[in-house]
Amino acid sequence: MSVLLSSGKGQFMNKPNNSIPLRVNNITKRFYQGQKIIEAVKKVNLIVEKGDFIAIMGPSGSGKSTLLHLIAGLTNPDEGSIEVNGKDIFTMSDSQLTKFRRKHIGLVFQAYNLIPTLTAKDNISLPIILDSRLSNIEKQLLGLLKDLEIDHLQSQRPDTMSGGEQQRVAIARALITNPSIILADEPTGNLDSINGQRICKILRTLCDSQTRTIVMVTHEAQVAIWAKKIVIMKDGQLIDSINTSEIKDFDSLVDFYQSRLAGTASLQ
Ligand code: ADP
Ligand code: MG
Repeated sequence: MSVLLSSGKGQFMNKPNNSIPLRVNNITKRFYQGQKIIEAVKKVNLIVEKGDFIAIMGPSGSGKSTLLHLIAGLTNPDEGSIEVNGKDIFTMSDSQLTKFRRKHIGLVFQAYNLIPTLTAKDNISLPIILDSRLSNIEKQLLGLLKDLEIDHLQSQRPDTMSGGEQQRVAIARALITNPSIILADEPTGNLDSINGQRICKILRTLCDSQTRTIVMVTHEAQVAIWAKKIVIMKDGQLIDSINTSEIKDFDSLVDFYQSRLAGTASLQ
């Protein structure tokens, strides 16, 4: 499978960098709280290939959001580098990175972050409007509205939609630019379990039928199990991983997760 947790020579070394949507190289992020130093992310390595759907699963405070924000270029690392589509994102200027992010990275957060005064259609179109690539999106937009079953919401504003509907609009907005990678931080966190499962199913379908590449972080096993691969995060480190095709049932995932969190062994 196509996640590499540790650095070193492996199956990916011969691939050109720009054929790999995401490469995280030995990334470290520290926060300073008074005298205290918190290493939120510690020397993390990760390679994600096109069409992968990775769930990074870990308890609250394990560093999941910090890692995702680093990958999105929303926060700077103390050490290491991140390549999206072969481009080292931290060598770019702020304005270059903003443009690059808009084009190559689709972001989906727990809070849907839609613009309240815009309709669903305009919220989804916003990244394209900002990028002034206005041509030819109508067909793609209609396809997305249909795929995500939100075509009937086109003219509605977010305050008239349910949480699940708003999140589907937010996913459409993340997809409209055809990004190299979709990053989702607890995308079901504000939803009831039925709507949460629906979002998970949509993400998996996008991966299976459209070869979209997804990295999602979650603390919930019932969300992580929809991914193709689960990577476990503990205390800022990626400590183990498993293909979901190898997991017998939901209980065995919970057992695997709990045993890895309790253990001290680390792959890094
Ligand atoms: P998770 O998403 O897994 O719950 P986070 O990445 O949010 O974890 O946080 C990891 C650690 O970093 C926690 O100890 C948290 O308190 C700390 N942390 C996160 N963001 C900041 C910040 N802006 N300033 C200081 N500490 C932070
Ligand atoms: Mg978080």
